[in-house]
Amino acid sequence: MARYVFITGGVVSSLGKGLASAALGALLQARGFSVRLRKLDPYLNVDPGTMSPFEHGEVFVTDDGAETDLDLGHYERFTGVPARNTDSISSGRVYSNVLEKERRGDYLGKTIQVVPHVTNEIKDFLHIGEDEVDFMLCEIGGTVGDIEGLPFFEAIRQFSHDKPRGECIFMHLTLLPYLAASGELKTKPTQHSVKELQSIGIAPDILVCRSEHLIPNKEREKIALFCNVRKDSVVAAYDLKSIYEAPLAYHKQGLDQAVLDAFNISPAPKPDLQIWNDVYDRIHTTDGEVNIAIVGKYTQLEDAYKSFKEALTHGGMANRVKVNVSWVDAEVFDSEDAAPYLEGFHAILVPGGFGERGTEGKIKAAEYARINKIPYFGICLGMQMAVIEAARNVVGMADAGSEEFDYEAGKKRFEPVVYHLKEWVQGNAKIKRKTDDDKGGTMRLGSYDATLTAGSKVAEIYGSLTIEERHRHRYEVDTKYRAQLEDAGLCFSGMSPDGKLPEIVEWSDHPWFIGVQFHPELKSKPFAPHPLFADFVRAAVDSSRLV
Ligand code: GLN
Repeated sequence: MARYVFITGGVVSSLGKGLASAALGALLQARGFSVRLRKLDPYLNVDPGTMSPFEHGEVFVTDDGAETDLDLGHYERFTGVPARNTDSISSGRVYSNVLEKERRGDYLGKTIQVVPHVTNEIKDFLHIGEDEVDFMLCEIGGTVGDIEGLPFFEAIRQFSHDKPRGECIFMHLTLLPYLAASGELKTKPTQHSVKELQSIGIAPDILVCRSEHLIPNKEREKIALFCNVRKDSVVAAYDLKSIYEAPLAYHKQGLDQAVLDAFNISPAPKPDLQIWNDVYDRIHTTDGEVNIAIVGKYTQLEDAYKSFKEALTHGGMANRVKVNVSWVDAEVFDSEDAAPYLEGFHAILVPGGFGERGTEGKIKAAEYARINKIPYFGICLGMQMAVIEAARNVVGMADAGSEEFDYEAGKKRFEPVVYHLKEWVQGNAKIKRKTDDDKGGTMRLGSYDATLTAGSKVAEIYGSLTIEERHRHRYEVDTKYRAQLEDAGLCFSGMSPDGKLPEIVEWSDHPWFIGVQFHPELKSKPFAPHPLFADFVRAAVDSSRLV
């Protein structure tokens, strides 16, 4: 039966709860335990799939097709455990399940209330898969005291009492602000935040305190005394150069030991930190650097492209080079020459995206990379833009475009080289879609197989002719134009197993120009960089030598 660690946050948001949870997962694995990580989000969207990346950062897609919070990406990158649909839940999902049951008559005769009906629904979710792993790490989104979060806090409180004594612990993250005028770290906000937790019946076992300054022993003792935790359970979390230092840093501060102590696991198995020592070495011992442009439209919020940035960092680690990522707003050169904005970069990545805004700029970025033989990596929308560029500028179809943009504009302007996918095969099932379907959860989502062409660049990079990658798209390159595009030199080097859906295109006469319909960035890890990202950064290194 799994032991549960509930991770909550207080004082301010964005303290790095997700990172702390992921690092703890990695440390428990290093001690030989199996782990699973989960996120419980208080917002009312059923899932983050319909939220703007500006609002909530990137949407992380699981193999089984769930659109989830980006923290699940951290969990996967640190533990290598593929996230599942049942690892993410929101208030929206909880209420929608409860209301569905109410309509069906499951609670017939009863008044439906937050306690016990909503809290029971949350507890049922927490129980899923409890006999599969040693530790279940559950992070509650938001900050203690938020109105929306209350049912979740109440549910984990009840859950810990339903379980035998000693099977659940609570870990709370707070901030120790530094007052420069008096040169002091202040503990009062932490004390208040713990009080807030205690007032809803939760006493934290471990406090993780974020601080920009060294926490003196005296302050640690004060926190322990006033917050009713053991002194060795007050764990410091200092700012790090790279997030991948977090497992080693937390280990040094005693987080994993404190967790094992809280569960009375003694003697504690010795940790094997080889993987994280190697990761640390690859971040800090580098030879040279490359400059890569991410040409997108959600460039004001870095979290919107979280996994792309991380996968590029992993690619750098594979090649022992530092990757400097620059965010370039494609919209700026929608109607001007792209060259002044892109000159000097050793490689260009055009990520996924939705809607027409900025797409003319992205098409120009693809053209610039093709003509100047700069490595180009087009992902999802980035592949679609590369195909439209090829159709317009090499095949000569001046009005080539995507049905997505016509649909949005409400009028027909383009020859739809990229069309709305209405039917595809998933396992043994045929999936059908209509243009006016609901927006939530209706894309081609999750892991699908693809077959690669022998002798192609991608087959060489993957070292295999069959791959599995995660998808999240509604539109698709139309095979109707395949012959014309291939005659022009754009090779369709990866297809769905039934040969109907183009998954990869590459220019055969270019040093590195690859477009993929799927999202390889979601599967890359610091200790196992995705082969496409590792090779893309290698190509960027080659291109940097030519400059
Ligand atoms: N908007 C495009 C589609 O739905 C691309 C999606 C994406 O880049 N994830 O097909």
